[in-house]
Amino acid sequence: MNMVEFRKVSKRFGATVVLDGVDLSIGTGEVVVLIGPSGSGKSTLLRCINALETIDGGDLVVDGRSVRGGPSTVREIRQEAGMVFQQFNLFPQMTALQNVAFGPRQVRGTPRAQAEQEARALLKKVGLAEREQHFPSELSGGQQQRVAIARALAVKPKLMLFDEPTSALDPELRQEVLRVMQALAEEGMTMIVVTHEIAFARQVGTRLIFMEHGHIAVDGPPAELIAHPSNPRLRDFLQHVE
Ligand code: ADP
Ligand code: MG
Repeated sequence: MNMVEFRKVSKRFGATVVLDGVDLSIGTGEVVVLIGPSGSGKSTLLRCINALETIDGGDLVVDGRSVRGGPSTVREIRQEAGMVFQQFNLFPQMTALQNVAFGPRQVRGTPRAQAEQEARALLKKVGLAEREQHFPSELSGGQQQRVAIARALAVKPKLMLFDEPTSALDPELRQEVLRVMQALAEEGMTMIVVTHEIAFARQVGTRLIFMEHGHIAVDGPPAELIAHPSNPRLRDFLQHVE
């Protein structure tokens, strides 16, 4: 069974067609890198997967559950699909540890001691064991984004969605976040990553998708597409991001 299946999905905002009959199947363990011009629908595509946006046509099935199911199905989908945003969106009044432990306590009803123990292990995994008592304002952007990744992982998602996770970071802080994402990919996590980091796409991605005007224009193996982009608009795009 596929982890994510778009079947002729359409999405409009008013008169603007943002997803135009998207068909897309993503299998377990795939690391899909999604690129494309601004406004092509990348964020909307991600947001539809965890039902932050509703779809107007077609169907979208996540780990066997349709986003058109009822509220309890949507809740399940949100637990299965962790999301990391460009702006880290941590709770400013909570420490790193509290940020990571919050989801399991609220969503899964995990007892505090257990949630904190698991949160510590996750902070260690993202290289922040020493920072658990720090507040977001006391952390660098790269550290905050790693806390955000740990927080998303805390509810044990089967799928991780990243929307330009390094775009708000200074270049020297991007690598620490990309390394955490690479480690996650190597553990077999299913991931969909919107990013302009072409080196990441080539090294970590198992699949590259180029979106244009709400549809998938190119879909294939990253190394080959990056080395020999036959689609002229993809070629243009790559020249401008590298
Ligand atoms: P991308 O992430 O590729 O830059 P988006 O998915 O954010 O593209 O946006 C695709 C299109 O949908 C754009 O034209 C954008 O203006 C429009 N759009 C996105 N979100 C909304 C919204 N909440 N209301 C109205 N239009 C939106
Ligand atoms: Mg976007």
